[in-house]
Amino acid sequence: MAKQYDVIVVGAGMVGALAGILLAQSSLRVAIIDKNDGRYPLSTPPHYDARVSALSSQSKTLLESSGAWQRIDQNRLAAYNNMVVWDGLGQGYIDFNAQKAAMPELGHLVENNVLCDALIEQAKQESNIDLYFEETLASHQLSDAGVKVELASGLPLEAQTLIAADGALSLLRTQNAFDTVEWDYGHHAIVATLEIDHFHENTAWQCFGEEGILAFLPLPDVDDRHFVSIVWSVPPKESDALMALDDNAFATRLHYAIGKRFKVLGLTTKRYAIPLRQRHAKQYVKSGLALIGDAAHTIHPLAGQGANLGFGDVKALVAVLTKAKKRGEHLGQSRVLRRFQRARMLDNIAMAAGMESFKRLFATQNPLIVQLRNIGMKGFHNTPTLKQKLVARAAGLSSFS
Ligand SMILES: Cc1cc2nc3c(=O)[nH]c(=O)nc-3n(C[C@H](O)[C@H](O)[C@H](O)COP(=O)(O)OP(=O)(O)OC[C@H]3O[C@@H](n4cnc5c(N)ncnc54)[C@H](O)[C@@H]3O)c2cc1C
Repeated sequence: MAKQYDVIVVGAGMVGALAGILLAQSSLRVAIIDKNDGRYPLSTPPHYDARVSALSSQSKTLLESSGAWQRIDQNRLAAYNNMVVWDGLGQGYIDFNAQKAAMPELGHLVENNVLCDALIEQAKQESNIDLYFEETLASHQLSDAGVKVELASGLPLEAQTLIAADGALSLLRTQNAFDTVEWDYGHHAIVATLEIDHFHENTAWQCFGEEGILAFLPLPDVDDRHFVSIVWSVPPKESDALMALDDNAFATRLHYAIGKRFKVLGLTTKRYAIPLRQRHAKQYVKSGLALIGDAAHTIHPLAGQGANLGFGDVKALVAVLTKAKKRGEHLGQSRVLRRFQRARMLDNIAMAAGMESFKRLFATQNPLIVQLRNIGMKGFHNTPTLKQKLVARAAGLSSFS
């Protein structure tokens, strides 16, 4: 006999785990399946993990409502109140400030492992969730009438709908022939955490310059020592060259690339280079299946919005499924799932288009365009209402649609 659920979520990353928890808390019976073992080993500060996410206030609110946020050790959360963005090739400069936007902070930096660990611990507490780790789908059949799944271990499961939260290389997306618009950004992102010589002022610093796009993102101080996470997006050849440098030479390059604002005292993690691709599924849903998070879309990390968009998907899908359940509708019907797609697609596309334009605008060193973009940045910097709108958008407090 197959075990019965309302929803099966494939992927217990930050997006899938949060979706599973919120659905279970809305009285749905949930199975979460992940190929990994669900363990997220936590390093000890100051050796923060290399993968870090900037989370918007809307994401924080959603995570709080799930109970997972409260499980995060406060010493591993860094609130940032300011963001400073400048053009390394000119005088263009924009700053954003939480106080001026009447917000307690612009967002929080948290290590991915710390967040995923908190989510899995929360999921384990939910009586409506069964967790299947080190499992994959051996087969699945989808229809408006429901979903039949067989796990690799041979266990049969049935549900009204399947949710694919299995990441950027989603097997469920390819197996079910979702058409995807996809291209290479021509950038690799180098990530690492570092110790710097002075306080980061709870500010996210980002330089668009000759040396690529470089962000210094604040992490919590340890005693009197100061740490940041970096995301340095550069063309692949440049990335190979930077990755080949020893730590001291890499630290010197960083010092110049960040406009000498900080001296880098040392790296506290290894460096990782991640190839960046833009992907967007043309549809997010079919009968009995919805794509969410990176399975549906990936964008350039220059504005730190990928996971925030994924959490936006979670919020919309949970609202749609909970309402449908109350109305007695079958959750796998495409007309039900299409409500989720309608709620999210425009916003996700607008964000992807925005990231692409930014990336292109700052990729050029054509003097005329450099001059124009610097004039544009200065104009933007001096227009508080425009800045306010962008801050609200980045915080997830408004949408493009
Ligand atoms: C350099 C960089 C910096 C970033 N910075 C930010 C930031 O500051 N802010 C932000 O909001 N976003 C950021 N992002 C984006 C963010 O990291 C992703 O959007 C987010 O991690 C996606 O989460 P997810 O749960 O959708 O996918 P994933 O984290 O990829 O999780 C997928 C899960 O599915 C499981 N899985 C995969 N395949 C299978 C299978 N066949 N069967 C079972 N399980 C499977 C995996 O084990 C995994 O647990 C950044 C991205 C990059 C590359």
